[in-house]
Amino acid sequence: MPPDPPGPTTRLVALLGNPVAHSRSPALHNAAFRALGLSFIYVACRVEAGDLPDAVRGLAALGAAGANVTVPHKEAAARLVDRLTPAAAATRAVNTLVPIEGGGWEGDNTDVEGFLAPLAAHAERVAGAPAVVLGAGGAARAVAYALLTSSFAPSRITVVARTPERAHRLAADLAPFDRDGRLHASPIEKSRPVVRAAALVVNATPVGMAPDTDATPWPHPDDLGPGHLVYDLVYAPAETRLLREAAARGAATLGGLPMLHAQAAAAFRRWTGREMPG
Ligand code: NAP
Repeated sequence: MPPDPPGPTTRLVALLGNPVAHSRSPALHNAAFRALGLSFIYVACRVEAGDLPDAVRGLAALGAAGANVTVPHKEAAARLVDRLTPAAAATRAVNTLVPIEGGGWEGDNTDVEGFLAPLAAHAERVAGAPAVVLGAGGAARAVAYALLTSSFAPSRITVVARTPERAHRLAADLAPFDRDGRLHASPIEKSRPVVRAAALVVNATPVGMAPDTDATPWPHPDDLGPGHLVYDLVYAPAETRLLREAAARGAATLGGLPMLHAQAAAAFRRWTGREMPG
């Protein structure tokens, strides 16, 4: 049965970011609430950085059922919540707020779970083999932590960045999860051998995203071949130039849309206790 229109018992979920106008999350979550007959509503709110503390406190005062946090507020949100999940603490970034019984917010980072979910279908190729992460920003942090702590147990994880200090800082921050020294940083111009030798290459930069769809984060497609799985976190377009060029050389490919859905499904589960319909 479809839910009633928003009314006095409707639960609020907000997206806090800037910009938010392009976000796919309201359509995704509102469709799922409708499909399950849940009286929840998901609203995108553009929030300036200076207003984030008021927005987070205000949502708690309003009794909101949860929130998502997106660019550029994920790191600031991690400093504003009352407690962090292990994934959010390790990555120092929060993309999901979940109410704590008795008051306050728990901050979670569902990008970690979202990244790993689509990899399960490729476990055989990835397990125990070397991995490369292109980029050293927030998404790269979630990917590196996910790979370090997952059962895929890559033999080596190399963070390849154009700003090497950022990659070194990432590796230093995640050192507590890297007891066997698998995480390394490498400058982009010296990384062709590690990319050639990897089984998994993840693009965690925005390069290739619309409208710059002619751009690629790896301008050496001949380094990729049938031994690679190339996983691009960019989801618009669904098939980037990186993935097209890799597939043309026999590599397996994975785009960013399955991760987008999996991180949303993890947040949805935390707010509603229900599985997001496929
Ligand atoms: P971010 O924190 O801004 O980090 C971006 C990283 O990419 C930085 O290391 C940056 O290097 C690097 N970079 C940017 N332009 C580059 C270039 N031309 N060449 C080489 N490196 C470059 O961004 P983010 O939050 O990590 O997001 C990265 C991408 O992941 C975005 O496209 C985002 O949409 C996507 N993402 C997708 C999902 C999903 O569910 N599919 C989830 C999260 C993120 P510098 O430090 O040198 O600037």
